[in-house]
Amino acid sequence: MGMQFLEFAQICEHLEGISGRLEMIEQVSAVLPRLDDEELPIFVRFIMGRVFPDWSTKNLGVGPNLLYDAVAYVVGTKRGVVREAINAVGDVGLAVEQLLEKKEQTSFFIQELDLSEVYHAFERMAAAEGQRSQREKLRIVQGLFGNVRPLEGRYLARLMLEELRIGMGEGNVRDAVARAFNVDVRLVEHAHQAMNDLGAVALLARRDPEALSRVTIEPFHPVKMMLAQAGTIAAQIADHGEVAVEYKYDGSRFQFHKVGNLSRIYSRKLEDVTGSLPDIVKILSEATDHDVILDGEVVAVRDGRPMPFQYVIRRFRRKHEVNSMMEKIELVPRVFDILYLDGETLMDRPFAERRKLLEAVLAGSYVAPQFRVSDPAAAEAVYTEALDLGHEGVMVKVPDSPYTPGVRGRLWVKVKPGVETLDLVVVGAEWGEGRRAGMFGSFLLAVQDQGRLLPVGKVATGITDEVLADLYALLKDKVIAHSGKEVTLEPEVVFEVGYAEIQTSPNYASGYALRFPRFVQVRVDKSVEEAESLESLAERYRQQKNGQGSL
Ligand code: ATP
Repeated sequence: MGMQFLEFAQICEHLEGISGRLEMIEQVSAVLPRLDDEELPIFVRFIMGRVFPDWSTKNLGVGPNLLYDAVAYVVGTKRGVVREAINAVGDVGLAVEQLLEKKEQTSFFIQELDLSEVYHAFERMAAAEGQRSQREKLRIVQGLFGNVRPLEGRYLARLMLEELRIGMGEGNVRDAVARAFNVDVRLVEHAHQAMNDLGAVALLARRDPEALSRVTIEPFHPVKMMLAQAGTIAAQIADHGEVAVEYKYDGSRFQFHKVGNLSRIYSRKLEDVTGSLPDIVKILSEATDHDVILDGEVVAVRDGRPMPFQYVIRRFRRKHEVNSMMEKIELVPRVFDILYLDGETLMDRPFAERRKLLEAVLAGSYVAPQFRVSDPAAAEAVYTEALDLGHEGVMVKVPDSPYTPGVRGRLWVKVKPGVETLDLVVVGAEWGEGRRAGMFGSFLLAVQDQGRLLPVGKVATGITDEVLADLYALLKDKVIAHSGKEVTLEPEVVFEVGYAEIQTSPNYASGYALRFPRFVQVRVDKSVEEAESLESLAERYRQQKNGQGSL
């Protein structure tokens, strides 16, 4: 018999009570070896608060309301009562637990659920499509809550909202996998970058650890995008000598996969956006005869000049009027990297070599121009030219670097003019007053830290009434709990926010606060995991103290 979901819940409860990273890793690594092959990947994902592999475009499609309805049904009450309980407790998991406790006194029979059964129920939910899908999902969620004990209910609810809040982030789980199966953590990380699913990596670490170093990217399993740090041309040349300078396009990132005549394209959040971008898919499919995975930026153009990001984003993820929008907004791909070619993963090859292969297999007009320079003045000339052409700035890349998925390191440095901003997760809001009555007037923002979200401040300025109305429409269905004038929101939306200064502060759980925060825009292309981390906020604070500017 497999691991009971009850035991999983007990482990979560135990971990929630531990604050030391090493102890958490040790506890989890002790559990992994005794899980069977089916449960191991499921456990590894669940403990991070994730249900499906990160490359997968599946999702549960369960909002707070559906969850409340299911719980209400199981405990024999109305949605309003569940909502009130959640408002009173301020945490969905704990509120569900308490409601189930009351019910437990009156009912006797539950059918024990194990980890795999819960996972299979989740799979059925993700597969439910069409008109009847909500009813079907509700039925499944009712079935699950009808068969759990109160403690299981706490974590089942949080897992469904993909927010476990026990502090087991990717880094901790990676370390636990390495420790459990006695393999080098760098191998685990390497395989994780290629497979983009720690669950599958854990299984491989147990079955065939040697194979961890040989894993290849699988077409149609997108990998995380490599990211950049802010920096300067001078420092990058001083550190590396010759560098590769490219324009920094103000568009939207994509990853294009093609095998034979099958092609798909993914957004930066790894959503499948093939249906929204038929023109880009066609262009790229026809631009090469090879099987490839390409990395690049989609830009909007009009009369040969790039148009701002807002135009691009209106085409991404669009499900309706794809064709008429296509006529209004012309998009072109600018490809700057290649990760896979005819069955072979190129991630570990030096960038300069990947670049040569890219030029050899892709039609020239779609390859982003690149300038190899070792003289700062020459690099600055490219920078000036980039701005003249209407681009955001330049990217300064290290020619002998590997492709490191998901890593925001110094191998890619971005240089652009302008003020610094932070991308922060919206975790709450406050009802507005006066003209802003009936919508949210300010928003509580947080940084992320190993799966936890820690507030850094509120933003209310920089938002026009029109934008406020849009933000309300965007966030109103994500309300989890109310308390007085404040609401707690399901953390899904990322705001880009400007600020005058980062200060240390005892008022917010992050230990920092922002002076004069100012709303810039919603980062629809960014996921919560990609928002500013506590670590990088601390680094920015240090740089600011040392008087280093952003450029
Ligand atoms: P920003 O808000 O400055 O765009 P970001 O947080 O979205 O930054 P970064 O990793 O800091 O992302 O900057 C890299 C981003 O710049 C990439 O994700 C990509 O969308 C974009 N970009 C534009 N041109 C290039 C290029 N030539 N090479 C790599 N990335 C590029």
